Amino acid sequence: MNSLHKKTDVILIGGGIMSATLGMMLKELSPNLEVKLFEKLSKPAEESSNEWNNAGTGHSALCELNYTKEEADGSVNIDKAIQINEQFQLSKQFWTYLVNKGSLPNPETFIRPVPHMSFVYGEKNVQFLKKRCDALSSNPLFPGMTFTDDFETLKHWMPLMMEGRPADDRIAATKIESGTDVNFGNLTRSLLDDLNEKGVELNYNHSVQNIRRNEDNTWQLKIYNGETKKVEYHNTKFLFIGAGGGSLPLLQKTGIKEASNIGGFPVSGLFMVCNNDEVIAKHEAKVYGKAKVGAPPMSVPHLDTRYIEGKRTLLFGPFAGFSPKFLKTGSNLDLFGSVKPNNVFTMLSAGLKEMGLTKYLVEQVLLSDEKRLEDLKEFIPTAKLEDWDIVIAGQRVQVIKDTNEGGKGTLQFGTELVTSEDGSISALLGASPGASTAVHVMIQLLEKCFPDNFTKWEDKIKQMIPSFGLNLSEHPDLFNEINTSTSKALGLYK
Ligand SMILES: Cc1cc2nc3c(=O)[nH]c(=O)nc-3n(C[C@H](O)[C@H](O)[C@H](O)COP(=O)(O)OP(=O)(O)OC[C@H]3O[C@@H](n4cnc5c(N)ncnc54)[C@H](O)[C@@H]3O)c2cc1C
Repeated sequence: MNSLHKKTDVILIGGGIMSATLGMMLKELSPNLEVKLFEKLSKPAEESSNEWNNAGTGHSALCELNYTKEEADGSVNIDKAIQINEQFQLSKQFWTYLVNKGSLPNPETFIRPVPHMSFVYGEKNVQFLKKRCDALSSNPLFPGMTFTDDFETLKHWMPLMMEGRPADDRIAATKIESGTDVNFGNLTRSLLDDLNEKGVELNYNHSVQNIRRNEDNTWQLKIYNGETKKVEYHNTKFLFIGAGGGSLPLLQKTGIKEASNIGGFPVSGLFMVCNNDEVIAKHEAKVYGKAKVGAPPMSVPHLDTRYIEGKRTLLFGPFAGFSPKFLKTGSNLDLFGSVKPNNVFTMLSAGLKEMGLTKYLVEQVLLSDEKRLEDLKEFIPTAKLEDWDIVIAGQRVQVIKDTNEGGKGTLQFGTELVTSEDGSISALLGASPGASTAVHVMIQLLEKCFPDNFTKWEDKIKQMIPSFGLNLSEHPDLFNEINTSTSKALGLYK
């Protein structure tokens, strides 16, 4: 058999956090698997997983208000918050396992403790925040969450945000010390370095152009090698499409029935980055506000202490916007090219339903620097434009699909796995909560795509993720034990 046509056990498309996580889990569970990765750019983690392209929040619902809904009776529903927090606990456990066995380097390179805070203004929001804090702090996963509307305490918690603020402003905040800032770019690169040592073939400058099913139900990939300028063909028994915004067009090429009636809606973003070290030094937290009326959940403004390129910095945003590209390095034809006979009605329905969102995103694109400064001043009243630069964030492709609740063409804000019935191919679509939940998503994938092995792997999975199969919120003692060990190994707040 021609070596170009040899069947690999697993091919991963994309050099982002998702492929890196899946590759690492598979090599831990089955070291002899032959795994190859193909990435179209010259380096890993250059799209959404790059540290400048996402907000680096270890999503745990400690501060993100969109995970706790106020019900009609005024109570606060914390189900989603618990679910997101549980998922991040899985990631922390897997990283702990990898740090302890030397597969990941000094954890400071990819995760840091940063307090998480929520910040609101106006009586109604203050009351909501108080109720939210009461509801969450009774759950073991949110230890020590504290609420205050006291001006002096707020000055102590967030000095930069309180400078120049009138003392009669009706504002409040919650604070929890166990928050994190995650450098998903460094994490991805470190995971891939280790995979390389474990024999995984990492192919950069390799763009996957087409995917088709072979007669024996394996998959053939047509790949353009940007170094040799030649087309190659590679075959695999299992294929993961972890191409971020590029996943939808590739999934559409597979022809699997599960890919029908699915579309994507790209949302671009940008951050303001502080260039003044004195300002940066005055703030140490990730502070999430409330989304404006009509704004999508992913455009909730936040002011974040970040650790990027070994330096502490301060980012504000993201400001959402519209661009037809599915990747930062994509093409202006991506959106139109993704409209196919099997999803045209889904896409048209979404277009009609989401006119308000489209209008909002176009308005955001047209915001001037001064308008953005106005938004920033809601967080830092003394902010000056000259202290802030702009960086373009990653593209998020929100999934559009037909659902029972929302009907035809409903915009989804979550992360979705689309898997063929026989489990030989799986694609990851969507953006949020994204990278933080990579380990949870990959456990789901392993269960669906490798059902026979999964039962055999369970003992090993429990070694890698001690709480596997249990809800930590229902096992407070186990949570405390695991929280102590992950915090120690990852250098986090206990
Ligand atoms: C503005 C913004 C803020 C965010 N904030 C957070 C946050 O605070 N916390 C969090 O957990 N998540 C956050 N996310 C989400 C998170 O960044 C993503 O969920 C995650 O990075 C996705 O990883 P991925 O590996 O699927 O995709 P990516 O990192 O985008 O990787 C996909 C790779 O596939 C490659 N590729 C594409 N097409 C092809 C092809 N045809 N052939 C070969 N290679 C291809 C691309 O070049 C890219 O390298 C944010 C995202 C954005 C955009």
